[in-house]
Amino acid sequence: MGSESRRATGCDATLVWGPDYLHYNFGEHPMAPIRLDLTVSLSRSLGVLDHLAVIEPVTATESELLTVHSPDYLDAVRRASTDPSYLGHGLGSDDNPVFSGMFDAAALIAGGSKLAALQVWNGHTRHAVNIAGGLHHAMRDSAAGFCVINDVVVAIRALLEAGAQRVAYVDIDVHHGDGVQAAFYDDPRVLTISIHQDPRTLYPGTGLAGETGRGTAEGTSVNLALPPATSDDGWLRAFNAVVPGAVTAFKPDILVTQCGCDTHHEDPLADLSLTVDGQRAAYAALHQLAHQVADGKWLALGGGGYGVLRCVPRTWTHLIAEVSGRPVDPSIEIPHSWKQSLRQRGVTAKLPELMGEGRQPQPQQWLPGGESWLDRSIWATRDASFPLLGLDPSDPRD
Ligand SMILES: [Zn+2]
Ligand SMILES: [Zn+2]
Repeated sequence: MGSESRRATGCDATLVWGPDYLHYNFGEHPMAPIRLDLTVSLSRSLGVLDHLAVIEPVTATESELLTVHSPDYLDAVRRASTDPSYLGHGLGSDDNPVFSGMFDAAALIAGGSKLAALQVWNGHTRHAVNIAGGLHHAMRDSAAGFCVINDVVVAIRALLEAGAQRVAYVDIDVHHGDGVQAAFYDDPRVLTISIHQDPRTLYPGTGLAGETGRGTAEGTSVNLALPPATSDDGWLRAFNAVVPGAVTAFKPDILVTQCGCDTHHEDPLADLSLTVDGQRAAYAALHQLAHQVADGKWLALGGGGYGVLRCVPRTWTHLIAEVSGRPVDPSIEIPHSWKQSLRQRGVTAKLPELMGEGRQPQPQQWLPGGESWLDRSIWATRDASFPLLGLDPSDPRD
């Protein structure tokens, strides 16, 4: 389907959402559940939720969680859910403090991502989105980086179990998608691509171009590490130079994307410089890619994003709208009623006026030979990964 007809008619799409997602709550912590709450309320106030089905998540079962995590670790998460002094398996740290009900809250998010994945795979919807998902740092035996259960891996394993032969995963969070990469590092059925701030300058410290996969899966891990301060045009130049070519060469049955928005210039935890307009353009590019390479099968997940008032609600409203095939115009005003509801909650911070930031990204095409840090990063990734995917690293058309 061409983009024009999509825009006129919308896409067949589903949002998996339930208020119980808000129980994933570390307390005083950057990963505040209000960011999800405010996203859904802003989407609702703009009419975005009128254009897609909204269904409730279902908790992941023990056997589904065991496709990803060790029995010992799941026991630890259970114990941490009732014992506030629990320490171990990455739990009880500053990043992953324990809280009452942690197991149920994390398992619900994982079940939501799995449900969204199977809705797409089974043809009940063309695209699905779970903004509570995208908890990409959780490892088989430990919590990490605010992530307790790796819902992304639960969803991808469910797709493989349901018959998908090839799954492409694109992670645009500012942090490396290390937990997902680790889960599939030697599995040739899953292509993981992560585009993130250079790990020498940011958590979790992995994700350089040389991490390309192992054994028969060599070539199915792709890492693009961007310099701090990369802005809309540079980010999109890098994305365009690597992601469409690699995903197209892989010929996936379905596209799974982690859509973390901590790439924003105001994000308190990282140092890239995208605007809401650049992030919105990234979501549109992923949407287009899903139609081009996977017959429109697209599962979009959330992820990081710690500008909880000024960035996340706007950016993920654009994400939900993009998934529905009816993008929101970035020049429209944010509804007064939404801002008023924040004031009533005691929020005094300056709130944005518009759904965008007035930028119109116009990325230049990547060409070989560029000497900037950004262009050298793009080259490092193409040089390491493209030959393994049957592509020519120096041909900008690839
Ligand atoms: Zn679509
Ligand atoms: Zn992140």
